[in-house]
Amino acid sequence: MLLVTEKKVSLSIKELDAGFGRIRDLSVSIGKLSAGDWAEEKGPTPYPSLATLREWDHTLLSRYQPFYMPFCDLCCLCTYGKCDLTGTKKGACGISMPAQQARTVLLTACIGAATHTSHARELVTYAIKRSGRDCEIDPGGNAIGVEAPVIRLVCGEKPQILADLETVLDYCESQITSLLAATHTGQEGKYLDFESKVLHAGMIDQVGMEVADLAQISALGYPKADPDAPLAALGMGTVETTKPVILVIGHNVPPAVAIIDYLAEENLTDQVEVTGICCTSVDATRYSPRAKIIGPMSWQLRYIRSGIPDVIVVDEQCVRTDAFDEAVAAGTPFIATSDKNCMGLPDRTRDPVDAIVADLSSGRAKGALILDSEKAGEVAVRVARTVMPARRKTSTALSPEAVREKAADCTRCRLCQRACPNDLAIPQGMKAAAEGDLSLLSLLYETCVGCGRCEHACTQDIPVHSLIVAAAAEKIKNEKFVIRTGRGAIQDVEIRNVGGPIVLGEIPGVVAFVGCSNFANGGKEIAEMSVEFAKRRYIVCTSGCAAMSIGMYRDEEGKTPYEQFPGSFTAGGIVNVGSCVANAHIAGATIKIASIFARRNLRGNYAEIADYVHNRVGAVGVAWGAMSQKAAAIASGFWRLGIPVVVGPHGTKYRRMLLGRADRDEDWYVHDQRTGEKVYAGPAPEHLFVAAETKEEAMVLVAKLCMRPNDTTRGRAMKLTHYIDLYQRSHGALPEDIPRYIRTTADIPVTLKGEITGILSQSGWKEQPIPDPTLLTRDMPGEGRL
Ligand code: SF4
Ligand code: SF4
Ligand code: SF4
Repeated sequence: MLLVTEKKVSLSIKELDAGFGRIRDLSVSIGKLSAGDWAEEKGPTPYPSLATLREWDHTLLSRYQPFYMPFCDLCCLCTYGKCDLTGTKKGACGISMPAQQARTVLLTACIGAATHTSHARELVTYAIKRSGRDCEIDPGGNAIGVEAPVIRLVCGEKPQILADLETVLDYCESQITSLLAATHTGQEGKYLDFESKVLHAGMIDQVGMEVADLAQISALGYPKADPDAPLAALGMGTVETTKPVILVIGHNVPPAVAIIDYLAEENLTDQVEVTGICCTSVDATRYSPRAKIIGPMSWQLRYIRSGIPDVIVVDEQCVRTDAFDEAVAAGTPFIATSDKNCMGLPDRTRDPVDAIVADLSSGRAKGALILDSEKAGEVAVRVARTVMPARRKTSTALSPEAVREKAADCTRCRLCQRACPNDLAIPQGMKAAAEGDLSLLSLLYETCVGCGRCEHACTQDIPVHSLIVAAAAEKIKNEKFVIRTGRGAIQDVEIRNVGGPIVLGEIPGVVAFVGCSNFANGGKEIAEMSVEFAKRRYIVCTSGCAAMSIGMYRDEEGKTPYEQFPGSFTAGGIVNVGSCVANAHIAGATIKIASIFARRNLRGNYAEIADYVHNRVGAVGVAWGAMSQKAAAIASGFWRLGIPVVVGPHGTKYRRMLLGRADRDEDWYVHDQRTGEKVYAGPAPEHLFVAAETKEEAMVLVAKLCMRPNDTTRGRAMKLTHYIDLYQRSHGALPEDIPRYIRTTADIPVTLKGEITGILSQSGWKEQPIPDPTLLTRDMPGEGRL
């Protein structure tokens, strides 16, 4: 049979006698995925476009209403403006303040989704070049039967080979283009429609991230869903400075892979240190656990200025835009490798390697743009080896005496402290340092996120950050930790083992720490929260810079969390999935619970699965630092699946929260699939997007937001125990909203039976049935909408 549609050609041969033999069941497709027949029935929404899931979005958004916190009352997006949108005023295009705020959130989410999708395109192209279009997608061999849950759910496709991922990316790119178009003047007018598109951008972002990680896992032989993925070195103190040192920064791993490959080819692996900052380094350790992670993006200034790296190679995303200037100041040759991040450098891609190496090594050229990973890899290694001996004879690090001298210039004007996002007491540190006591400056190291704003504010041109780092030299020498390398996906058997306990509430929750940790004590707090929840037998997942922060702390026995807790997706596990794009595996795990444990069809069946996850899987995301636009897109993807996200104080700068109103009983009804009745299920989860001021507040919120309508009484009692315990620890009293979460007396934690029974009797509490919950109407035995 030959089928020709507008974009696709499919040739299917059941049986054919040809001269060379007999052909059976041949299927050839051009312009579509190779998957052929797939037994799972296709759901209602494969490849959803902008408005396909609008009804589901509006169902969520009617419960979790956007609460806007505008930074500014003006819109300046087009030349009709600027327009004053204060109060009930509208812009010249007719837009209101809420719609304008929602449009800004959409723009942010689009930037994030575009960044991941563009990164995915780079990785798929690279993987195909390296391993061929027919290279099988293999995230975990026999351990993974549902190998691309997000793509299955969203696109209704089951990608099998790398070439299939190109088609999936075509879809993502078309959606992002349309989403961006919706932000043009005179398109959407209503905030809820912008918000629905925010959720669409988040869902597309998850698809893009899954594509990216599947491509690199398959082509680069990363750990494949391995809970025992090897440990890698983490921290500035782990670097062997007797060897040439290469620093890679960014998110797109091919240049780092090329460096590692070139070293292997030349038998130099033991002789050169490959170190990295941000997600490129996470992925470099997945490729070779000999690579070392220095730290999250806030380590860029301190590490570059240390003079330790002999060559700096940057790719894309989260690279300081002044990285080249910093490299020049440190006398370090610099190579840019991405056309998205050319850094103003001359394009040397077509020049001979010898010429580039000679220019960079001699200092004739300070930097080069090389848009060829293999060439960049060779140049980096050869330059590092050439320049290293001379570089070790000089040092850019400040001596204690130099710190004292520079601190003596300080006039205590306090401009630095005012510019500092963490309000650090720099002037006091300078005063003490000028008098010979570096301990106060050294203390600031713990809470300094290396942004450099203090230096730009300083009227005396004091290199404040460098002084802080120099004062903390001893601490930096002791930055010696380990991190479990990113394992990638979650195995089917792990889902099978924990699916029931999660859905019934007997594992109290899945908590995902993602994103950057860059604010005062941010890294330490992420580590402490993850340890707390792992000890409480939650499943803790992490990725990217948050995963590094977790590794940077030790218990009393000197063990990092990765040495204390297993890497498996189980109660009490700390699961590092990998770099930012590996976040898709965390969403994927919740989706796989619906598929593997509950046997729901995933294929193009988004609303049903999101409804399942929202009502039954007690998962919560936590993003604790100041975040990029990618983090906004990642959060949006969780929201569309009905998974709440808690952010730190910086998260309020996203300008809107998605808050439930626990006091409005009418918002918390679900359909009971068994009876068709509308049943009050309580505010579980209470919010979809909420900010916490402190670590303690965040932990209380996480424990509360893990509650779901489907919890069994045993599960609810356990979740309440954690919520109440954490609340009591930070507030010294019982939470006032306990009655809202108790459906029957069997929900009451045994240890608090007396107290809570008393509270219930005073509050007019009535027993409620425990439903088989859904927010959807099409699953209902009867009719009616909520
Ligand atoms: S987009 Fe609308 S509100 Fe914004 S400047 Fe233009 S006319 Fe004014
Ligand atoms: S570099 Fe550190 S001390 Fe300076 S402004 Fe940033 S956080 Fe504050
Ligand atoms: S801005 Fe400079 S001179 Fe002023 S207090 Fe800070 S370090 Fe001292």
